[in-house]
Amino acid sequence: EREFILRHKDEPAITLDGIAIDIEANIESPEEAKMAIEMGAAGIGLYRSEFLFMNRDSLPSEEEQYEAYSSVLKIMGDKPVTIRTLDIGSDKTLNNEATVAVNPALGLRAVRYCLANPDMFMTQLRAMLRASAHGYLRILVPMISHLHEVTEVKRYLLQARQELVAEGYSIGEKIELGAMVEIPAIAIAIEPFLKELDFVSIGTNDLIQYTLAVDRVDDEVVNLYDAVHPAVIRLIHNTIQAGDRAGKMVCVCGEMAGDVDYTRLLLGLGLKSFSMHPQHIPDVKQIVRHSHTNTLKTKVAATLNYGEAINLNMVNAAV
Ligand code: PEP
Ligand code: MG
Repeated sequence: EREFILRHKDEPAITLDGIAIDIEANIESPEEAKMAIEMGAAGIGLYRSEFLFMNRDSLPSEEEQYEAYSSVLKIMGDKPVTIRTLDIGSDKTLNNEATVAVNPALGLRAVRYCLANPDMFMTQLRAMLRASAHGYLRILVPMISHLHEVTEVKRYLLQARQELVAEGYSIGEKIELGAMVEIPAIAIAIEPFLKELDFVSIGTNDLIQYTLAVDRVDDEVVNLYDAVHPAVIRLIHNTIQAGDRAGKMVCVCGEMAGDVDYTRLLLGLGLKSFSMHPQHIPDVKQIVRHSHTNTLKTKVAATLNYGEAINLNMVNAAV
């Protein structure tokens, strides 16, 4: 059975009712891009750039970042590569960080940290834009909660682009900008963000944490960390539907996307783009190929209307 699944890993993931599902990979280093290709990924849906910054005493230079980002773009050829801007703070920390935030999960993390440290942010954006000359780059910004953060990021991107052009660098023609949907506020009021962005990617790891007020790394409350809590499901559904109306891609790149128990639920919520650890790709593809999206949508919609808990067994048994 496993052998059969692996043999079909490079074939496209199309549902029984003919919907093409995009299955991409989450990576943390350029080496893992090769694994993504081997496992049949259609692109990189999440490159967690912070691993280049962690467990060291100095920041990576523009050149070092350019090398890492461009090597991933080269490995992936014309397939999309989604590089996330630095998501530092809370569960991922830099060495030598001077202060400990009052509440790290709610503090100066991710895009907040970048906007407060513009030199560091500009270095990263410059490295990404230079790398874009080698393939199809998507830039993904974590922990967005306010529209003005998107405006500020765009201002820095424009500045980086102008500097690089003036310095004679070539930059890719097709660069997309997206935000992580991992704070409930933006999942609830997503429409204006979709107007300003090319795509969004739902980070269920943090979205669950913030929706349920349950620390994602605290063992004492792990029993309350629930991916299928009706509130979480409604936020995911709202984001996917708004994305469809706006004609913008919505991906899920949290752990939920790579868990085969949730594949059919996510298809039933209308999801067409998944990103996961490369090792899960063949199994998720296999389930996609044996699922009927419309049947799943009907089942899931019925439950959602009443705000009831999702019956995963029912969803997974649907034909
Ligand atoms: C998430 O929050 O779901 C996510 C994909 O990002 P990370 O796990 O890196 O916070
Ligand atoms: Mg996150």
